[in-house]
Amino acid sequence: MRATIYDYPLEELKNLVKPPFRAKQIYSWLYHNYVSSFDDMQNIPKTLRAELNEKYEISPLKIVKSEESDDGTIKYLFELADGHTIETVLLKMKDEKFNENGELIHHAKYTVCISTQVGCKVGCSFCLTAKGGFIRDLSAGEIVAQIVYIKRDKHIEHNRRGNIVYMGMGEPLDNLSALTSAIKIFSELDGLAISPRRQTVSTSGLSSKIDKLGEMDLGINLAISLHAVDDTLREELIPMNKAYNIASIMAAVRKFPIDKRKRVMFEYLVIDNINDDIASAKKLVKLLHGINAKVNLIYFNPYEGTSYGRPSVKKMESFSDYLINHGILSTIRQSKGIDISAACGQLREQTQ
Ligand code: SF4
Repeated sequence: MRATIYDYPLEELKNLVKPPFRAKQIYSWLYHNYVSSFDDMQNIPKTLRAELNEKYEISPLKIVKSEESDDGTIKYLFELADGHTIETVLLKMKDEKFNENGELIHHAKYTVCISTQVGCKVGCSFCLTAKGGFIRDLSAGEIVAQIVYIKRDKHIEHNRRGNIVYMGMGEPLDNLSALTSAIKIFSELDGLAISPRRQTVSTSGLSSKIDKLGEMDLGINLAISLHAVDDTLREELIPMNKAYNIASIMAAVRKFPIDKRKRVMFEYLVIDNINDDIASAKKLVKLLHGINAKVNLIYFNPYEGTSYGRPSVKKMESFSDYLINHGILSTIRQSKGIDISAACGQLREQTQ
């Protein structure tokens, strides 16, 4: 498989093209104009365009299918050069606002949830991606191209920042080197300029890799898929917990360098009668003591073939109220994209 042109941070690209100043121009075509052909790079000499065509892939993703939900969530299914498929989800966090003359006064706000692997090794029992097993890591370029495709598709200007969450298919920390290259490429000021502060790595809790990412001190945000407060239940939900238990995750989080104004996000997937009781909320409060944390409670989104169920609104609210009353910031995530089965892996499963 040929490397993709999106694989390279600017400094690396400068070493690959001659003269090096062409790298900035190429970056501008890729990340400001979202061109899908080297031949559209008008100020690049023909000889260099021919060389780029020969050496690099510029369209590493082909769209297979996209579905839009009533709330504006769009789910994309992409095919990679080797025929495998991945999913990316565009979440509209805020609508655009117009004044009485119909002029745009606020742009819409977006978050893009991107994939880092084809399949996943973690094997969470509630996840469809896990059922297909692990196939391969994505390259940095295949991670970056997901954002470029969506920006091009939705005509989102390069200076509209948006947020990125590494929360699609795969465990991002299990593909650490491509992940850190992608974080760097996204944040290049001559490219998309999406600062690491707008990027969140969501992990199932590979504590040794949380430590490694922390040592790099990239300024990135961290989200932990905790989901349970005791190891027995967590092992049932996330088998990887056998190797990385709750205590090791919490120790890694306590060491992780987080911007003082930011919080570590703990995702808690609330499953009916499994982890939605007040005793669990109580343990969670204890576990998070001393951490600048925010808990995001997520309704389990049932899919065909699962025995797990969605909790009642009442139980969800009692859980959240308990956290808030005990000094922990808590939100209940409204299930965006529920009508397009936007849980990780579902579009891919349906298509296959
Ligand atoms: S939920 Fe995430 S970490 Fe768990 S198996 Fe699915 S993709 Fe992997």
